[in-house]
Amino acid sequence: MSYDSNNIFAKILRGEIPCKKIYEDQFALAFNDIHPKTPVHILVIPKGPYATYGDFASNASDAEIVGFERALGKVIAESDLASRGYRLISNAGSHSHQEVPHYHVHILGGRDLGPLLAK
Ligand code: AMP
Repeated sequence: MSYDSNNIFAKILRGEIPCKKIYEDQFALAFNDIHPKTPVHILVIPKGPYATYGDFASNASDAEIVGFERALGKVIAESDLASRGYRLISNAGSHSHQEVPHYHVHILGGRDLGPLLAK
């Protein structure tokens, strides 16, 4: 999947549309999902132009990958989710129903999340 710089998360990164920011550093931005599926539903995105997890893992620099993972860890720690548990999801491509073609990790928590997938 090639990167579309007009996607909504690219616009958030450029400050063209607002978000409910939770955390930001040089590698990552975290904000609340606009349509939360769980009491806690945070999106964490890298600052670079990567469409999917595979694109990011293959093409980002080591510093970007480490920086992003550390940011994800900080957001999880500061959200106080670790003691009760949480789920990370990253959709990629049409079978996963990825809506926004900028790599992102959903952090879901705040209630029992049930089985991994609906039947
Ligand atoms: P995905 O299906 O994995 O691509 O998920 C995209 C997510 O982005 C969905 O959960 C949407 O609710 C969320 N979303 C779309 N637009 C915005 C926005 N402007 N601010 C915050 N979250 C958004």
